[in-house]
Amino acid sequence: MIPATFAQAVWRGIRSRCPRCEQGSLFARWLKPRERCSVCSLDLTPQRADDFPAYIAMIVTGHLMAPLIIALSLDFALGPVAMMAILVPLALVMMLGMLQPAKGGVIAVQWWNGMHGFVKERLPTPEPTERERP
Ligand SMILES: [Zn+2]
Repeated sequence: MIPATFAQAVWRGIRSRCPRCEQGSLFARWLKPRERCSVCSLDLTPQRADDFPAYIAMIVTGHLMAPLIIALSLDFALGPVAMMAILVPLALVMMLGMLQPAKGGVIAVQWWNGMHGFVKERLPTPEPTERERP
């Protein structure tokens, strides 16, 4: 079923579900979107996420890592090797773990806004009742 709100569509994308029906999966492989939703047949080929998911992952990881780096260097006085042994694997896991949800969210934003050839779809708005009419 078509999502009622923008946030609902994006949340479906973040969870790697089809933004339109929520039933089909968005990805054939890790970062490879399906050409079509297997449930509602939504054509996913117009998506143009490009590098934007990577930028999102970098920005979020950087903002989450900064307080940790400060705390590790000030409170624990770790040496550079110990810092790198903790921070590099953590940053890699966070970045790689965020790429697919970020890409799903970007595809959902593009679909919701009818970008790049996606057809903009909305739930039909109910007819105003007699009392609501001006
Ligand atoms: Zn679908």
